[in-house]
Amino acid sequence: MQFQLNEDQRQIQALAEQFSRNEIESRAAKADREAAFPMEVQEQAVALGLVNTTLPQSLGGQGLGSLELVIITEALCRGCLGIGTALCINALASEPILIAGNEAQKEEYLGRIAQGALASFALTEPSAGSDVASIRTRADRVAGGYRLSGGKIWISNATLAEFFVVFAKTDPDLGYKGMTAFIVPADSPGLTVGEPLSKLGQKAAPTAEVFFDQVFVPEALRLGEEGSGFTLAMK
Ligand SMILES: Cc1cc2nc3c(=O)[nH]c(=O)nc-3n(C[C@H](O)[C@H](O)[C@H](O)COP(=O)(O)OP(=O)(O)OC[C@H]3O[C@@H](n4cnc5c(N)ncnc54)[C@H](O)[C@@H]3O)c2cc1C
Repeated sequence: MQFQLNEDQRQIQALAEQFSRNEIESRAAKADREAAFPMEVQEQAVALGLVNTTLPQSLGGQGLGSLELVIITEALCRGCLGIGTALCINALASEPILIAGNEAQKEEYLGRIAQGALASFALTEPSAGSDVASIRTRADRVAGGYRLSGGKIWISNATLAEFFVVFAKTDPDLGYKGMTAFIVPADSPGLTVGEPLSKLGQKAAPTAEVFFDQVFVPEALRLGEEGSGFTLAMK
């Protein structure tokens, strides 16, 4: 069995390491001290094709696999764990859309990510971390869609995100089978993002609480079928 990186992977690694040395290391101390992600690095990384690599080429990505994502993430995080995390965490929000999104959702939201937008994966709650099925955020059926109410915590890039992939209970009585995922634009009325939470490290990657106060989400932004959210989160 062959465990060496192939030529393409070595080139990707070399490019990511060079970018990390030139553009990330030099900004690391300031970004960490000020707990501020330098957005110009995101723009440079998008231009070089070092982020959103798992998106299909038809949507502006590279169509690369998980190993290439790991190679790049490792190289970028070597320069600064916070900046590297903020750059690469889009992969977490992209994945549920790649897996369960319909063509219109993929084109719109993965297309925006490919253009440089940041997005967040919003699952964890104050009383639901590892025990994903115990989330309490609700998505109640209303005419034309759902109303989300509840709150999330430790959401990476929440203060920078254009939209969130949010997991909520559409049927709390069904436990993990009652969870559903939604795409929720950050400017939805009733959605607010808290101040970045204090951390011991990784400070350039903002993590924050996200609150939903009767946030209307149209049915067109539901990812997959009702009840498919737990399986989607686990994938
Ligand atoms: C920097 C940072 C960024 C994050 N970004 C995101 C994000 O973008 N989106 C998001 O949704 N969440 C995010 N999270 C949340 C993260 O996913 C949770 O912290 C994680 O799921 C663990 O949940 P918890 O912190 O509540 O710990 P707990 O679930 O309370 O776990 C605490 C400890 O107990 C152990 N444990 C838990 N259950 C069991 C069990 N049944 N058996 C044995 N051991 C167990 C765990 O392994 C852990 O060591 C982030 C967290 C951090 C710190």
